[in-house]
This record gives sequence, structure tokens and C-alpha cells, in this order.
Amino acid sequence: MIDLPPPAVLAFPAAVVGLVMGSFVTALSYRQPRAQSVAHGRSKCPACGHTLNAVDLVPVVSWLAQKGACRYCKAPISWRYPAIEGATMVLFAGGAVAVADATHLALLSIMTVVMMALAVVDIEQQRLPNSFLLALLVLSLAWRWFGDHDFSTAAVTAVAVFAIGVMLNAGFRAATGHAGLGMGDAKLLAIAPVALPLGPALMFLAASGVLGLAWGLVWRRRFAATVFPFGPAILASYWASLAFGTRLFEGLVSRLTG
Ligand SMILES: [Zn+2]
Repeated sequence: MIDLPPPAVLAFPAAVVGLVMGSFVTALSYRQPRAQSVAHGRSKCPACGHTLNAVDLVPVVSWLAQKGACRYCKAPISWRYPAIEGATMVLFAGGAVAVADATHLALLSIMTVVMMALAVVDIEQQRLPNSFLLALLVLSLAWRWFGDHDFSTAAVTAVAVFAIGVMLNAGFRAATGHAGLGMGDAKLLAIAPVALPLGPALMFLAASGVLGLAWGLVWRRRFAATVFPFGPAILASYWASLAFGTRLFEGLVSRLTG
């Protein structure tokens, strides 16, 4: 096990890395659904096509300095870019404070990037790309591998959760005539128990339900839509469960039993 510096010391560099990874998330979530490579091609202004330089691409700072507009054509740049970068920064710093061992912190950081990209694509397009879900599944297996190694519990809970998700979807469709829980949501709900021990996994499911309900109400009020992206609520619960789940669950158990 590698010793990490104290969380307060680690939080600052983690925040800086998070800011940089945040701009990678914006590129990933923009280009993946459009089948564009993330590695090739420099960033261009979508309005005027001007190739952007390093000074235009400093996360959050460029957007603020240019007052949210392209430096070349003055076309407005969506606030979603600094928002994604800022959120990724906060999650990286939060992970550094919450997770004590280096391996899991490294895994959580990579998972944060994948989860942010999933959340952004789900909010924008109401879908969860399989390629991102597969990456999250592999990372969740790695999390378990470096944790309690309990792959039989992981398999049983993941299959059970997925089956319940599919049944909920079928039931909802039969009752209302349109899809409720999407297949992507069912897959995402099933991925979390691959990494989480049983107790934290149950807490994760409860949190996903409660958060999803709140988020759905907000979404419905905002957009007057009957269908809302459930993914961000599941992802938020999963991230919090990875960062704090075991500690929260043990605290809860000792309170109930002690
Ligand atoms: Zn421009």
C-alpha cells in the first residue's frame, strides 16, 4: 500500500488535475456520441471554426476571462463547459479527501471522468453509451479486486439488480405504455454492486431511488417532460457510495447495534 500525503495537502493538486480532466470530459461527452476521436484534431470553435490555442483552453479561467464568448467571433460559449470542469474539479478534490488508499483513489479518479461523461451525455441525449458503461464495469471490477475480492456477491447482486430493473421497466411499460427505467439505467444500477459490498450496495440503491425521485421532480418542473434522465441520480449515488459508502454503512451499523 502506498502512503498518501494528508488529504488537505492532496486536495489542491487533485483539484488542479480535476480541472484539466474536466475539459477532457467536455471533449469526451461532445465527441463520443458523434463518433469523433478524442485524441485527434485540435479543439475548434463550433461557431467560427477557428482553431483554439492553449490560452483559450484553460479550464474555467478562459471562459471567465472571455466573459463566456469566443475570443475570435464573440459567439457565446455555453456555461456547461465551465460547469463540467468545475464539477469534475470538486469531485477530484473530494475524492482525495475521502479515499485513503492510493489504488482506490486512482481508480475513483478515472471512474469520476467516466461518470461525468455518462452524466453529461444522459442529460443532453437521454442515453447512456455502452462503451462508457463497459469502461465503468471494468473499473468497478478493478475496485473490487483491490477491495474484498468478493466476486460471488458482486455477481449475484449485479444480476439481481439488473433483473429487477428489467422487470420494473417491463411493468412500467405495460402499465403506462411508455418506457420508465431505461435499459441503460438498469445496466448502470447493476454495475455499482460489482464494486460495493452488500450493505453499501443496498444503501446505494435506496439513495438512487430517493435522489432519482427528487431529480425527476426538478426535471419535470423545469422541462415539463414526462421522461427524465435517471443516470445522473444513479451516478451521484454511486460516486458517493464509492467515496463514503463503507464508512457510512459501518457508522450506521455501529449506531444500530451499539
Ligand atoms: Zn468562434
